[in-house]
Amino acid sequence: MGLTGLDIFKLTPRKNCKECGFPTCMAFAMKVASGAVEIEKCPYISDEAKAKLSEATAPPMKTIKIGAGDNEKALGGETVLFRHEKTFVNRPLFAVQFDDQMADDELARKADNIKKVDYERIGEQMHAELVAVKYTDNKDRYLEIVKQLKDLNKTFVLVCDDAAVAADAVALVKETKPVLVGANADNLEDMVKLAKDNGIVLGLSAAGIEDLYALTEKAQGLDYKELVLNTTGENIAKTFEKTIEVRRTALEGKDRTFGYPSIVFVNELAKGDAYMQTALAATFILKYGSIIVLEDIEYANALPLFALRQNIYTDPQKPMRVEPKVYEFANPDAESPVLLTVDFALTYFVVSGEIERAKVPAYLAVPDAGGLSVLTSWAAGKLGASVIRDMIKNSGLEEKLTRKRLVLPGKVAVLKGDVEEELPGWEIIVGPEEAMQIPKFLRELD
Ligand code: SF4
Repeated sequence: MGLTGLDIFKLTPRKNCKECGFPTCMAFAMKVASGAVEIEKCPYISDEAKAKLSEATAPPMKTIKIGAGDNEKALGGETVLFRHEKTFVNRPLFAVQFDDQMADDELARKADNIKKVDYERIGEQMHAELVAVKYTDNKDRYLEIVKQLKDLNKTFVLVCDDAAVAADAVALVKETKPVLVGANADNLEDMVKLAKDNGIVLGLSAAGIEDLYALTEKAQGLDYKELVLNTTGENIAKTFEKTIEVRRTALEGKDRTFGYPSIVFVNELAKGDAYMQTALAATFILKYGSIIVLEDIEYANALPLFALRQNIYTDPQKPMRVEPKVYEFANPDAESPVLLTVDFALTYFVVSGEIERAKVPAYLAVPDAGGLSVLTSWAAGKLGASVIRDMIKNSGLEEKLTRKRLVLPGKVAVLKGDVEEELPGWEIIVGPEEAMQIPKFLRELD
């Protein structure tokens, strides 16, 4: 819970020296409590008091780090329930689950799928970041699979409630900072010790929400707070309810007992139905899954899920932009045409994808259009003849090209006359209105 003005006042030296800019320590404390002033404004505040205050004002949901090196990712740390209030900060991660009953061919097929789904979208690499390996009852096979999957270079989620087996599995991959999911009311002490000794995140599982709360309190009582809460319930409805209740308790109720990221096993809920799995994964991207466990990953389910995740976990107040500059496709030369588009990321990626598909050498000139789409930037006065002129003049294209052809987006055909005036010596061509028409247009352009 947050500190009151009076609590903060008790932490001040009570000298009333005014050096903080306030007439009294009490006036200063009240401003700190309201968030208007930083505690550091008082030069006499002790380190101990600062630490106490920083703990009291820390976000209600803890940020947990998993993975090592380039694979390190943060989970949790959210401060709001809804994206329109403020940005969500740490996007959920996807895991594909294996288990010790799995035959070699099935294991190889799934591992191959993980490798195949790896692509860039709006500057972000899209892939399943985690592999989950579930222990059922075959220790040797379990450890063998963990060893085999190390080659994928992913962070492990070791799903295992047998502390002895878990210890052996952790020993195999501890340098990768895995998550160990399997602590419950029966094994908590052993699991906390294992997690503590190896400096890894521990996942807690309990049937009901009250049981999960009690288990989390107990883990905290054992002085361990690097936790993930398994909010998977006995069915879809119970899981949905539990996952939301945990997040609400943390953020609305400001109760740090539930202030941890969650893990949701949507593979268990979907029961082999790939469509249901995609629908559930989408649901828990929106509603507070931090690690989402899938049975398998293929392009068909990955594309909508990764796009949804990227859209939800970006700041709605900041347009997604690409760097304004000239991009090159298929080794263009002095005769190649220059296409024009805007720096709104979605427009850029659609247009550039179609130019790539055309396999025709071309330049793509992207001016600073405020991160808006073609028509919006034109309507807002951010994409006009002078902006296009400045972009082309500063790009070095005029010196590079012997044949100067500039293709305007069809939606701003109205700019043709003005651009011709601003860029004498250039042939200004009106291109297609829709990006999908670009390949045909480019192939037919002489
Ligand atoms: S600088 Fe510190 S001691 Fe001085 S009035 Fe402000 S709060 Fe009090």
